[in-house]
Amino acid sequence: MRIRVSSTAMPLSGYWVESALLEETVAPSRTFDFFGKKYNLKFMQISSRLQKILKEAKRVCVLTGAGISAESGVPTFRGGGGTAVWKGMPFDQISSAKMVRENLDEVWEWFDYRRSVLKDCKPNLAHKILAQWQDKFDDFTLITQNIDNLHREAGSREVLELHGNIHRSYCTKCNKRFFMSKDTIPHQPVACDECHSKVRPDVVLFGEFLPPSVYERAERKSMQAELFFIIGTSAVVYPAAGLAEIAKFNGAFLVEINPEETPMTKLCDESFRARSSEVLSLLNELL
Ligand code: NAD
Ligand code: ZN
Repeated sequence: MRIRVSSTAMPLSGYWVESALLEETVAPSRTFDFFGKKYNLKFMQISSRLQKILKEAKRVCVLTGAGISAESGVPTFRGGGGTAVWKGMPFDQISSAKMVRENLDEVWEWFDYRRSVLKDCKPNLAHKILAQWQDKFDDFTLITQNIDNLHREAGSREVLELHGNIHRSYCTKCNKRFFMSKDTIPHQPVACDECHSKVRPDVVLFGEFLPPSVYERAERKSMQAELFFIIGTSAVVYPAAGLAEIAKFNGAFLVEINPEETPMTKLCDESFRARSSEVLSLLNELL
């Protein structure tokens, strides 16, 4: 249930949004009593410039990171002052090209663990709103660093997956691709049915290149964007984070949605210090 409260005491472009479903608030909040039930209301300011661009923009790009899936129960790697560690190894060591060469079995153990975490995760409101946006703008591009497939599960038809997809694998010798259902844990097949070589996750690891055709399309769309959102990413993994810079330098209005500041914040025209589902539901109401 969402309520927007209008009050004469409220600034023209400010909104209170209901955030009762969220355990904590990250912005000034107040409690609102509605038919005997208490709601926690969070204040968010949307500039009149963003309201106008949102209504008029034809070319819109969204870049998402792990944070958009946090409300689905998928752990992020960074954020809240912590970083992920697997069996004492930092995530960028276990998720690396070097590790694939030296200990592919251990890499698979880590990815099978991550697939088991994902097994029961469902798309959240933020994924669902972005799936609606593909039909609300003339030219909408969804670019993600996530490998969790939740954008597609929410109904997004075209997703530029910069870092691959955790439910796919490919042969280390002949490159044959394999698709796994969410329930296939541990992964199958373990070896290629054509050449019997080992298969590896179809995920771009630290020290590896992005799929060129996906990146090139993401870069072109970022250059053309009038409005560019950077949502739920710590903005430290390149070249993905660089797309926001490319968009900004080519004239896009840059908007960040993240409970925490990031290195990209300084470049943004507008930043929301809140969760993606809260901000997107508010922006969605303006469309
Ligand atoms: P990250 O883990 O480095 O950063 C997550 C960011 O999300 C943080 O800045 C945090 O403040 C923010 N955040 C947390 N909760 C949020 C919410 N509810 N709404 C909005 N923002 C929220 O993630 P990254 O920048 O995507 O980079 C990590 C790399 O790891 C990427 O390459 C990505 O492929 C991979 N990764 C993917 C997943 C996934 O597929 N779900 C999960 C973890 C890591
Ligand atoms: Zn093969």
